[in-house]
Amino acid sequence: MGEVAPRRLRALGEITVSQLRHVGPKRTEALASLGIENVLDLVTLYPRRYIDRTRRVDLSDLMVGEEAAVFAEVKSSTSRRTRQGKSLVDVSVVDNGETMKIAFFNQPWRGAQLVAGVQAIFFGKVSDFRGVRQMTNPVVDVVVGASGEERDASRVGGIVALYPASGKAGVTSWEMGGFIEESLKRAGPLLDPLEERLRRDFSLVDRTAAFWGIHLPRDMSDVPPARRRLVFDEFLRLQLLLALRRRRLEESSSGVSHTFDERDLDVSPGSLRDERSSLVRQFLGAHHFALTTAQRRVLHEIGHDMASTLPMHRLLQGDVGSGKTVVALSTLLMAIDGGRQGAFMAPTEVLAEQHAAALRADVAALRVADPAVLGGERGVVVHLLTGRVKGKERQAILSALVNGGVDIVVGTHALLSDEVRFKSLGVVVIDEQHRFGVEQRAQLRDKGRAHSIEVLDPDLLVMTATPIPRTAAMVVFGDLDRSVLDEMPAGRRAIETSWAQSPLDVGGAWQRVRDEVAAGRRAYVICALVEDSERIEATSAVAERTRLATHELRGLSVGLLHGQMKSSEKDEVMAQFRTGEIQVLVATVVIEVGVDVAQASVIIIEDAWRFGLAQLHQLRGRVGRSDQQSYCYLLGEAPSDDGRQRLQALVDSHDGFALAEIDLGLRGEGTLLGARQRGRSDLRLADLRRDEEILNQARTLALQLVARDALVSHAELIDELRLFVDEEEAKFLFRS
Ligand code: ADP
Ligand code: MG
Repeated sequence: MGEVAPRRLRALGEITVSQLRHVGPKRTEALASLGIENVLDLVTLYPRRYIDRTRRVDLSDLMVGEEAAVFAEVKSSTSRRTRQGKSLVDVSVVDNGETMKIAFFNQPWRGAQLVAGVQAIFFGKVSDFRGVRQMTNPVVDVVVGASGEERDASRVGGIVALYPASGKAGVTSWEMGGFIEESLKRAGPLLDPLEERLRRDFSLVDRTAAFWGIHLPRDMSDVPPARRRLVFDEFLRLQLLLALRRRRLEESSSGVSHTFDERDLDVSPGSLRDERSSLVRQFLGAHHFALTTAQRRVLHEIGHDMASTLPMHRLLQGDVGSGKTVVALSTLLMAIDGGRQGAFMAPTEVLAEQHAAALRADVAALRVADPAVLGGERGVVVHLLTGRVKGKERQAILSALVNGGVDIVVGTHALLSDEVRFKSLGVVVIDEQHRFGVEQRAQLRDKGRAHSIEVLDPDLLVMTATPIPRTAAMVVFGDLDRSVLDEMPAGRRAIETSWAQSPLDVGGAWQRVRDEVAAGRRAYVICALVEDSERIEATSAVAERTRLATHELRGLSVGLLHGQMKSSEKDEVMAQFRTGEIQVLVATVVIEVGVDVAQASVIIIEDAWRFGLAQLHQLRGRVGRSDQQSYCYLLGEAPSDDGRQRLQALVDSHDGFALAEIDLGLRGEGTLLGARQRGRSDLRLADLRRDEEILNQARTLALQLVARDALVSHAELIDELRLFVDEEEAKFLFRS
């Protein structure tokens, strides 16, 4: 028999599970329901934990209160009913001469499953019952059945990998381990896309060793290096894709070179404009404040990108209230100055409407040079375009965009619809779009060029007020440059945050609302989040507003804002809240991002535990937008540990980045990565909290390899990456 050629991952993907022994149609179907169709899927299903059978632990040494996995043989089992009529199966198991009791409530079938002689793994919390270790309703994985249909007993003696429980599909961890072992044996040596020198440089074991080490470690010390290699590969693939995408875009793009004069950033507040001032200079000079150091630095970074012919792809991160809007508007104005247009995209209609109104006010005094008009200059034209703008008005805006009659258009996703065309789109600013994945950003860029009659790539600035831990940003936004506003405008006071649980505290919160309103300020009341139903949410907000207006806040002018209202109604409510005609605004989370009313000094968040930490921080950011002392009250108890930790974190910290780290710790990366994650490109093993160092190294290598020759000398890596992207993307990334 000759040497087998080492296999690529692609080849593993071509072996279907039905080709394995013991896998018939039924198993094939069960595995498919877990998303496992081939050998590659199998070997990238990683163990949750291991039982080390090479080191005997006495059952009596198991720590009470801890979770443990125990491998043991059933000695006896009895079924009965408790006095309350529940079914109870008592099982007695033995390992190494020691006994443990296991109680199963409401699982009468355990009696037939766990008869004497059955060997199984029991996973659960250990308790102590009269000196005997006990588990209640543990997870059970039968290894050797009653009829002795024992498979490969050799696996029992060493380290046993436990796979994610898949009871629903009826595949036990033990069986899964068997399939994976067979897969690895059949696969034979695996081709390693990283040559030895690179593996040495980055302290990586080879790929074959990594897969064996994670699934079938001979010793527990095999696991960490195996894991390190597999995590490295996950990050490397992702970073390679991001770096390649970036490189291709730069090669294929021709961007707009805007003019940027950095001296404009130093204009003193309130200074009069002189002849021929740039729009940015006029705009900044009209404020009563000077830029913060962070704003100035970020505008430098942006201005540099804007002036280059490479299109800008930049992420602007800044905590709520750090002054992103000034930066965004200055960016738009850089483009307008050169006679081009800007698009500003907001995630919701309310925000688009608010941005449009604020922008109009901000640019009202600015004059843009235009030889085509009488007097040689005119105002900056801002239009709003959302799905709600219809008929003649819509047509008018659309044609003004094509013939250059609009400088800035503000809108939602609707701006990307095919009918929207620009004369010369110079820059796109996206607000709060961290929910946007890499794919959508690429699409946006393509559209930008296609929609501009000038056929140049617009510059792109993505803004987010949800601070993202650095590691997550490298994964989600790895194809963007990053600017951070890490400084608050001077004079801001921390928002006093309390968690009001007792009726007395809650009473104090409402009293605060009355006091602040009496002093001429305003308050928000945020109604609880209702899962999946904007309609029910609206209903409960309506009811809450009525209740408050007749009870706690009787005598105050209480308004209402929710997602089901018409945009004209919302506009009106927001306008009334701004002027103070409405003193207290009862709202659903539609106000989560960006709403800016400086006089608002109290926010009450009902059933606060229902909200995520990032969302709570956003909501809190609706107040504290002036030099007034502001207050945030979190109402209600938290029924879960998690909820309590979130609320306590918010009380303790005002730093969005610190809160984001805590959030990542509480929720894991799944939710954070959300939209970006897709099929096999998932980070299956990597953990952004513990693997930051590996991520940094993988990114370093990815950048090196792509910069050198766009992977031309690493055909195996290209072959592997192709597994993770669709055809169209592959064509773009890997054309030679
Ligand atoms: P963000 O969008 O980052 O939450 P905004 O841009 O809405 O923050 O700014 C919050 C408030 O701070 C606004 O009222 C804005 O006018 C004000 N502001 C922005 N920059 C400065 C600054 N450099 N000095 C003082 N106030 C500022
Ligand atoms: Mg803002």
